[in-house]
Amino acid sequence: MQKLLDEIIDKYKGTTAYGAVANYIPELEKTDPNQLGISVFDTEGNLFQSGDANVRFTMQSISKPVVLLLALIDNGEERVFEKVGKEPTGDPFNSIVRLETFNEHKPLNPMINAGAISVSALIKGNTPEEKVNRILDFIKKITHNDSIRINEAVYRSEDLTGHRNRSMAYFLKDFGNIEGDVDETLEVYFKQCSIEVTTKDLAYIGALLARDGKDIITNERLFPARYSHIVKSYMATCGMYDGSGEFAINVGIPAKSGVGGGIMCTVLNRMGIGVFGPALNRKGNSYAGLKVLETLSKNLHLNIY
Ligand code: GLN
Repeated sequence: MQKLLDEIIDKYKGTTAYGAVANYIPELEKTDPNQLGISVFDTEGNLFQSGDANVRFTMQSISKPVVLLLALIDNGEERVFEKVGKEPTGDPFNSIVRLETFNEHKPLNPMINAGAISVSALIKGNTPEEKVNRILDFIKKITHNDSIRINEAVYRSEDLTGHRNRSMAYFLKDFGNIEGDVDETLEVYFKQCSIEVTTKDLAYIGALLARDGKDIITNERLFPARYSHIVKSYMATCGMYDGSGEFAINVGIPAKSGVGGGIMCTVLNRMGIGVFGPALNRKGNSYAGLKVLETLSKNLHLNIY
């Protein structure tokens, strides 16, 4: 496995040049675009790493499946599904268009920004700070990493420039999808997106999903298998946004990308995978990260379809 990962990173390192780092959140533009790294954590507890595996980057949309898990734990699925649907959109991650045209007036799924903002509003806590701390504690627990924290500069940068997310949140509030204060909900959403992780942390979360909620190190059940199935189904159908169909054909495993350059994947009963390559394609997915995962999937026969 180690040899394979080293070969793949070496082979695709140069392809980072075909992508570009996200610049609509100004702080992300400072990232070195040439980085590429991977961690694989298998369900036997072995960790394999290659390239820039231990560089910290912000989770961005990879926080969405994790916060969804916590929202399910906090509220149960009936209440969560009152606020978000179960269908892919085929639209970009930050699209606002279906909010008005889709007649149920709730976001189609919790992997797009509108749905994720609705889910952030469901996290229990009296203040945004309490909610964010609960999210952070949950992530620390499932990654076995107490050093996880928020990148304040990235948070402030998105808070200052996130006009589209802000408009979506107000729109959601108007049709009753968000209970409570809109700005407080956005604070939670922007902060969860600014949580810093490494590929190792993502591989740990992926491996936990690969065991449907049973911690690999302690063997403790951290959430019901049903919630794991819900989250993985969303990852499989909507995790790469309007690139989800192509990803299913070329890689074929549940995955979630973020504009920080990370991709988190899970392979049932086998492994969790974390990839980092901040140069993105036009759909906001890591350019080289996709190449790495395609080749890894072929070599290890990971495709589940
Ligand atoms: N924080 C980002 C946003 O809301 C997350 C988007 C993403 O990672 N695709 O725009």
